[in-house]
Amino acid sequence: MASLRHGKTRMIVLAKRLLALALLTVPVALAPAPAFASDDWQVIKVGGHDYLSVDNIAKFYSFPAGVPFGGRKIGLEDVNRSLEFTLDSREVMINGARNWLCFPVIEHEGKFLVSRMDLAKTLEPQLRPQRIPNIDRVQTVVLDPGHGGYDKGATSNYGYEKDFALDVARKLRPLLQAKGLRVIMTRESDAFVPLELRARIANAAHNSIFVSIHFNATDRDPNATGFEIYSLTPRGAPSTSDDSVALSFMNMQAGSAVDAQSVELSACIYHSVLGHIPEFDRGIKRARFAVLRLTKVPAVLIEGGFLTERGESRLIANKDWRAKLAQAISVGIENYKALADNKQRPMLVADYRRQTSSAQITQEPSPTPTPTPTPSLLSAVIVP
Ligand SMILES: [Zn+2]
Repeated sequence: MASLRHGKTRMIVLAKRLLALALLTVPVALAPAPAFASDDWQVIKVGGHDYLSVDNIAKFYSFPAGVPFGGRKIGLEDVNRSLEFTLDSREVMINGARNWLCFPVIEHEGKFLVSRMDLAKTLEPQLRPQRIPNIDRVQTVVLDPGHGGYDKGATSNYGYEKDFALDVARKLRPLLQAKGLRVIMTRESDAFVPLELRARIANAAHNSIFVSIHFNATDRDPNATGFEIYSLTPRGAPSTSDDSVALSFMNMQAGSAVDAQSVELSACIYHSVLGHIPEFDRGIKRARFAVLRLTKVPAVLIEGGFLTERGESRLIANKDWRAKLAQAISVGIENYKALADNKQRPMLVADYRRQTSSAQITQEPSPTPTPTPTPSLLSAVIVP
């Protein structure tokens, strides 16, 4: 467990109220990609804050015109990419997976507007991952099984989070090694490892990424289920779970110099996990967890389901299911590596689901069996 749940409605109101303060004081730069020429963007100031219209976003990214539906939603879609915005909400679907914006989408003079920070920090890296600047090759994966020792993490009827997380990391390690990656574990046994030390291990490794593995828990809703993944909240933005009156909204803690890389690492792992395992999509989120704050390399924290929910706690207790989770995480990491090393477009949730259903078809008895494509081959076909 690494977070508490959030209440959407209060969050919207508060996030709106605090937008004024936050955006006033933050010099938000658009991503430094050269194609972000000022001519392409008509920045709309609302209450002194910078927004871009959904129409402008559609035009810049060469989407067909947006299709409004249900009154409060607008969708943009082409062959490979999709966006679905909801008015007055931080929730947005990007390429078929839920994401949480820093600030809600607003309406102004009949247009839906998205904050400039979200364009730069949330949309751009996922719409054009091949253009993420300064994306380093991946040689080392630092796996961080959450908790350990006296810190048991969350508990289910079947065991402790610390043990399930360590087991997933142990299953993941050989899968990554088989891809030629070096793997460092922040702990290999049931030991307590301080959070600062976990981050230091990642920072000391050459060309590394950091993947922290946790399972979720909540005392608010026994039926809460699903996957979620976190990277560090950008400077001056509220975290996804900030839903109470708190000046932490005005948190000016440093963001991450590798923010785009971390968000895209989140997306790569999340799309694979969601595409391989049919659990609820809680989304790609932001938080200031210590391990995310203190790591200087692309870093994410995945919550692989809820130990407080009957069905998921049973799944998590099943070693075959944990092996499947490890497998899905490894494919996500492999996709991120292919992006970083070779600018290969990462697979999306729909690509994985298509692959799974075609694999099932090819398992049917057939006179000319078709070999199941490997992820890298398949994504090479999908890349235009
Ligand atoms: Zn945890």
